[in-house]
Amino acid sequence: MTGPAAPSLAEILAPVKHVLLDFDGPVCSVFAGLPAPEVAHRLRVELAVEGQPTPLGWETETDPLALLRRIADERPHLTAEADTILATLETEATRSARPTPYASSLLQACVNSGRSVQIVSNNASQAIQQYLNAHQLSGYVTAVFGRHPNAPTSMKPSPQLLHDAMTAVVAQPAECIFIGDAVRDVQAGDAAGVRTIGYANKPGKREKLSAVSAVVIVESMGEIVKVIKNGGSIGPASVQ
Ligand SMILES: [Mg+2]
Repeated sequence: MTGPAAPSLAEILAPVKHVLLDFDGPVCSVFAGLPAPEVAHRLRVELAVEGQPTPLGWETETDPLALLRRIADERPHLTAEADTILATLETEATRSARPTPYASSLLQACVNSGRSVQIVSNNASQAIQQYLNAHQLSGYVTAVFGRHPNAPTSMKPSPQLLHDAMTAVVAQPAECIFIGDAVRDVQAGDAAGVRTIGYANKPGKREKLSAVSAVVIVESMGEIVKVIKNGGSIGPASVQ
């Protein structure tokens, strides 16, 4: 064996007081019932209804959040309207979102072990809150940090939302862990100085998350739940 062994999940979680959790993926599949391409399509249609025909190139964009970013870059005067329309569509989507296995157990385990949970997501806060309320999960979440309205630049890979979350609970990066399922999550974590656990929930994601600096990769949220339950409550802080 050469080089230091990778830290175990238990070692990674031991000093963690605050769990920052991405939403789409780790908590639920937002667009399981109302597919993302349909949401992107409806966003274009609603802008067109408002008298804002969308450029040809936008028609092939199937990721509504990528479309929002593109609108902000290419037609900044439409950003506020597009963001509002998309937030409404995301809220509709969360009504048929599919819960991620063990996500509610994770929230409960975090709180039971003395850790706070904050949602850090590129989705709209109102959509996230709607889902948490509908699934009786709001009580486990200290705060929700969705993208800033009318400011898609706040979205990950920007560290903005992670900074917002840490500021809200007066936390140092070393006291936090971020759990996300996308390369941009790991990049945002890096930029904020927070270690990121990669959630590889689909084929190919392990490779992508390994290529960036995810501190460890899990394929089930149940793996994290098990470690937190076995670890009991957080011990004396070992970080400054
Ligand atoms: Mg995600």
